[in-house]
Amino acid sequence: MTTSPIPWSLVIHGGAGAIERSQTRPETDSGVRAALNAALDAGGTILSAGGASLDAVEAAVRVLEDDPHFNAGRGSAFTFEGNNELDAAIMDGATLRAGSVAGVTATRNPVTLARAVMEQSAHVLLGREGADAFSREHGLDQADAEWFATPERRRQLDELLSNGGKFDVDMKYGTVGAVAVDQAGHIAAATSTGGVTGKRWGRIGDSPLIGAGTYADDRGAAVSCTGAGEFFIRESVAFQINARVRFLGESLRVAADTVMAEVKALGGTGGVIVTATDGGMAWSFTTASMYRGCAASDGNRKVALYEDEG
Ligand code: ASP
Repeated sequence: MTTSPIPWSLVIHGGAGAIERSQTRPETDSGVRAALNAALDAGGTILSAGGASLDAVEAAVRVLEDDPHFNAGRGSAFTFEGNNELDAAIMDGATLRAGSVAGVTATRNPVTLARAVMEQSAHVLLGREGADAFSREHGLDQADAEWFATPERRRQLDELLSNGGKFDVDMKYGTVGAVAVDQAGHIAAATSTGGVTGKRWGRIGDSPLIGAGTYADDRGAAVSCTGAGEFFIRESVAFQINARVRFLGESLRVAADTVMAEVKALGGTGGVIVTATDGGMAWSFTTASMYRGCAASDGNRKVALYEDEG
């Protein structure tokens, strides 16, 4: 990646969870790091060429949606009934335009469908069969159920069902997201997920809810969340971090740590990535690990999985 005179930055995540280094197979560790690097390359190439943060976050998330290591697109968590129902959102900090989808089953890249909702409909959030119909009508890439389903996610559902179907928030590792600031000084955020293993009754998490799991405002911050969605919804985590930066003038780190402490106090777990128009970057998480990475025009670049990696 070439170093650009005008600052840009990109932060990505691939989910937060309870997984320790000792529980991770070496091939999983290296596969996740390779995918995070590929996502940073996809977004970073756009940003270093002067492209828009909106394009960069979409491109980074698409890479992770297509990679089966993550709980988004291919490799999504299974519902109680054994299906994959996908949620995604995208938001443009320059205009406050936003688009999202919930419970879609046939669109290969839900983040691109969220963007189509933002740019080609009069709405912000479309759900289930209607969102899939919108996707077909707008010519987006479709995928069949086999594309999304992986043996490991099926095994996780089987394990949950053999435990009496108890809802386990730690069995959903791998939601993905990206936040970026481009050379024009505009920020954007995107998030994509399969939700939580064993979800039922059309359960929707925080990821596609603007202000809960995803938010971007040039006057504040761009935020993408991962974790136990019900707690992130109750805390309006993404909007709250943005608001703390915008109205209180808090640093990204203080705002992120403060709101994650609130999530923890409610009993929730997870993490966030944050950026702002000055190019600042931060992440904060309450779990043993969060798959994450960052890249910036000053050459700063990092990929990390576990807490002790900084
Ligand atoms: N926040 C997502 C949800 O609740 C899951 C996750 O990030 O792991 O649907």
